[in-house]
Amino acid sequence: MKPRTKLEKLVTELSGKLPAITKEQEDWGKEHVFDHLAYKCKDELWCSECGKMWVDASNSELGITVLGDKTECPYCHHRLDVKVSRKQKDHEGGYMSILQVKGGFQVIRHIYCMRSTYKETHPVHYDFTEMVQEWISEDGKRTIIARPMNMGGNGWIYGAPLSIKSEYGSSCWNYRGDIYAIWGELYPKKELLSELKKRGLNRRFPDVNPSKLIRDLLKGSNDAELCLKTGQISMLKHMYKTGFSQLRYKPSFNICNRNHYIIKDASMWEDYMSLLSYFGKDLRNAHYVCPKNLKVEHDSLLEKKKICEAKLRQERDRIAAIRRREKLMKDIASFYERMKKFFGMKITDGNIVICPLESVTQFYQEGKVMHHCVYSNGYYKRPDCLILSAKDIDGKRIETIEVNLKTLDIVQSRAVCNGVSEYHNQIIKLVKKNMNLIRQKMTA
Ligand SMILES: [Zn+2]
Repeated sequence: MKPRTKLEKLVTELSGKLPAITKEQEDWGKEHVFDHLAYKCKDELWCSECGKMWVDASNSELGITVLGDKTECPYCHHRLDVKVSRKQKDHEGGYMSILQVKGGFQVIRHIYCMRSTYKETHPVHYDFTEMVQEWISEDGKRTIIARPMNMGGNGWIYGAPLSIKSEYGSSCWNYRGDIYAIWGELYPKKELLSELKKRGLNRRFPDVNPSKLIRDLLKGSNDAELCLKTGQISMLKHMYKTGFSQLRYKPSFNICNRNHYIIKDASMWEDYMSLLSYFGKDLRNAHYVCPKNLKVEHDSLLEKKKICEAKLRQERDRIAAIRRREKLMKDIASFYERMKKFFGMKITDGNIVICPLESVTQFYQEGKVMHHCVYSNGYYKRPDCLILSAKDIDGKRIETIEVNLKTLDIVQSRAVCNGVSEYHNQIIKLVKKNMNLIRQKMTA
């Protein structure tokens, strides 16, 4: 993108005046961005720093020491972690982030560092390429200068020059959020805007995303500033990890500060606050909010809460069981009232016997044997619903029939598993023929 606004033009101009990455910075990156490894395969080892290979001679006259999983390269004398691996080459990459001040801006420069090492065949190769510059003004507004990304959005185009980019990229691939707020290894010689120093930032930079912290502080995030100034670094980290930009228990937090109480495990402390609040404890009382042993207090409250919740659950279950029982008794009574006039009714043609279901228990049995929902869907509760059971002369259930008492129609007649029996038509005919009997019973 071409610089269009006054600010973009200024930043582009200043960017051209930034010093090149120095050898000192590159050397620091070599040490701090990469792992330093000795790849070990059988008794051979090779060095990720110089590519040279040697034989593990822990018990030979060369006397190379392997201290636990650490060793030293006999050629470049780097201290190395031993890693069992068959790899013959190694490509590693990572970011180094450099904080500089230029023209009243806080600049964060993100350098992508690459290292290629080959076992014995080539000398080790390093590459340092500046990918992103975040230019943050005193009010926290950010202007981005970066290389373009490839179409997939998963890598930079190395050859293309750095230029102004819009805050959230120009394409839809930026769903991963703020791709420019890279959190690289922070180069220790840091230049900071005096405004940031005033807000509690110093060279001992806390372990949080630098770009986000710097912008928040400059935009006036009082909570981040408060954490920094009171040395509550665990809380600061926790805020950034959980994505809250504000403290959740600020009055309690202030009491900690007044009592010079440093919260060592902020996520546990917040948990503990929510437990205190669950038990209605005073969240402004130092006795509670500044526990000598946080873990012990936290665990004991958590245990208490579990017991409480279990009791509550039991009580809820007990009440629900009583309600269910009361409801069932009511349903049984009203079923009896509604249906007793049909009790004893019998429709038969000599082969098939059709009788009403006369109790909720019978509904249950019918549903169970016939594998349908006459009981589970509570047909006994339906006011205009007469349920009949058709059996053969041996008493074997054939179909279950629903008659609507308002319309005196057969709504359905179902065999086992809601199927159709070979007697279906016969049953329907027989019930229809006897609909008068049902009508008589209704008005009796
Ligand atoms: Zn080496």
